[in-house]
Formats: sequence, C-alpha cells, structure tokens
Amino acid sequence: MDGSEELKRRLDAVHERIELAERRAGRAPGEVEIVAVTKTVDREIVDRAIKLGVRHFAENRVQVARDKFQSPLPSGVSLSLVGQLQSNKVRPAFRLFDQIESVDRASLISALEREADRVGHSASLLLQVNVAREPQKSGCDPTEVDELANAIHNSPHLHLRGLMTIAPLCDDPRELRPIFRWMKNCHDRLAPRAPDDRFNVLSMGMTNDFEVAIEEGATHVRIGRAIFGPSITGLESP
Ligand SMILES: *Cc1c(COP(=O)(O)O)cnc(C)c1O
Repeated sequence: MDGSEELKRRLDAVHERIELAERRAGRAPGEVEIVAVTKTVDREIVDRAIKLGVRHFAENRVQVARDKFQSPLPSGVSLSLVGQLQSNKVRPAFRLFDQIESVDRASLISALEREADRVGHSASLLLQVNVAREPQKSGCDPTEVDELANAIHNSPHLHLRGLMTIAPLCDDPRELRPIFRWMKNCHDRLAPRAPDDRFNVLSMGMTNDFEVAIEEGATHVRIGRAIFGPSITGLESP
C-alpha cells in the first residue's frame, strides 16, 4: 500500500462507481454503505482510512482482528466479522465485533445466544447464505434460511439485521445478477416477519461485483482490493 494520497484516490474512485450504480438503479446517492475489508492491511492503513471518512470495517479472522484491533476504534466506527466463525471463538468474537455477518448454522446461533446471555448484552447478526451452494464456501443452504432466521428471532439476546452472501468467482459479474436478485427477494420476504424494523441490511458485492450487487439492492458492499490495492502478503519490502 502506498501513501495516503493513493488510498484517497482509490476510495474516491470506489465512491464514484457506487454512486453511478446507485443512479443506474434509481436509488438515492449515498444510500449504499461501504464496509472496508481490511484483512490484507495493517492497523496504520485502517487508521488512515478512518481519517478519510470510512466508518465500517470488516475482518474475516478472529485472531487477526484481535491483534489488529487491540487499541479501540473511535466511537461511530464499527467492525464486522465476515469470515467463518467456529463455536470455540465465539467469546473473543463477541468482544471484538459490533456485528457478525457469517452466521450460518443452528449450533452457532445457540453458542452466540449463550455467550450473549453470559455477558448480558445483545448481538447484531446477519445470516450468511450460500446461494449457489458452492461446496467450499460457508453460508447456509438457501432452504435453511427461514428456520435459521426463526432460531435467531427466538433468541432473546440476538438481533437479526439482515442477510449476507459471497457470490461465486466469475469473469463477468453480470452473470451473478440472479444470485443477488435471489438475496433481495429473500430479504424482502423475511423483513415483515422480523420483530422490529431493524431487519434492513443486505450485505453483498465485493471488488469484482459490487456494481451489479448495488443494482440488485445491496445496502452494504464489502470492499477490500478496490480500496486497499492487491494483497501485498509475501511481497513486503525489506
Ligand atoms: C476479502 C473479503 C471481501 C473483500 O473482497 P475484495 O475482493 O478484496 O473486495 C468481502 N467479503 C468477504 C467475506 C471477504 O473475505
């Protein structure tokens, strides 16, 4: 990663592409939130992004996040978990993250409710759906969504805020339109059943496909490389 100017240039370009996609979809400019995925950069870069106005961040591994976010984030800045969560990492995850986006099974929902009850505060969750049923990927099967959403609604300390998906890798992101559309339909179907009106997050779209995701109704796009550049892991300067 280069200096702050490079970061600002990339961030401005992402904002511009988001706004164009919002316009194409007839949505209000500024409606879609950026979640900056910081798994390839260190804390110094995160702090620079905060200075440039980024308010939502995400990591995919609990242990990495624990090291990177030892010093607390300023108020108004949030951190989400977007990677698979093992039940034995629920305790540190609960402490670290404002929202867990990768909830995909009943046993994890029970473990989260137990921990929330133990520490005495609630948790915001998204249900991750593996729409294309890719065997390697986490996320629940599309047929399990209703049952898992109910399990969360029935957990006193857990609040379901919406849905998340990771679309398949694809050369032409337009081919992913049916996946994003499925998510939007599913979201609209579940929203009236939520106990409050805070079921309003549809987290989908990454560097390769965020514009199509926005056209299909994403409220949050999770972007790593377009903001921070390609991963520099293994190419560190001496
Ligand atoms: C890494 C990651 C992203 C961001 O991916 P980019 O292609 O770098 O934009 C988004 N969501 C999840 C779950 C990720 O692990």
